[in-house]
Amino acid sequence: MCIFCKIVNKEIPNNTVAQNEDFLAFNDLHPKAPIHILIIPKAHVDCFQDVSAETMAGLTTFAQEVASKVGVDKSGYRLITNNGEDGGQEVNHLHFHMLGGGKIAWDHSHEDNHKSI
Ligand code: 5GP
Ligand code: ZN
Repeated sequence: MCIFCKIVNKEIPNNTVAQNEDFLAFNDLHPKAPIHILIIPKAHVDCFQDVSAETMAGLTTFAQEVASKVGVDKSGYRLITNNGEDGGQEVNHLHFHMLGGGKIAWDHSHEDNHKSI
């Protein structure tokens, strides 16, 4: 069983932010922003590439509710998922990072930013 399935099953403790029947939001162990929440479907899906549009519809509403609950719905946030090896995914259970609580860095320059590829 994967690490996030163990969190869903309460075999590993977590700091729950919100949940419903299908989704769980909990604080990331190593936060990269003042607010860094992981949003996951409770049923295991490996990654974004494998998730159904139906699950994503539910996850969208849930993520919006989480943003309101922690008070970043107006101030803004970044929602990202790392998909697969090149995307830097380390835990192979679909998760979205919700980052907020302050300005999240982003390079807005119009220069060629493809140097890392
Ligand atoms: P990825 O690199 O796969 O997109 O992100 C995995 C995230 O899961 C990382 O930000 C990491 O800090 C977080 N993480 C890994 N193990 C645990 C854990 O046991 N508990 C919590 N709360 N977060 C975890
Ligand atoms: Zn899992």
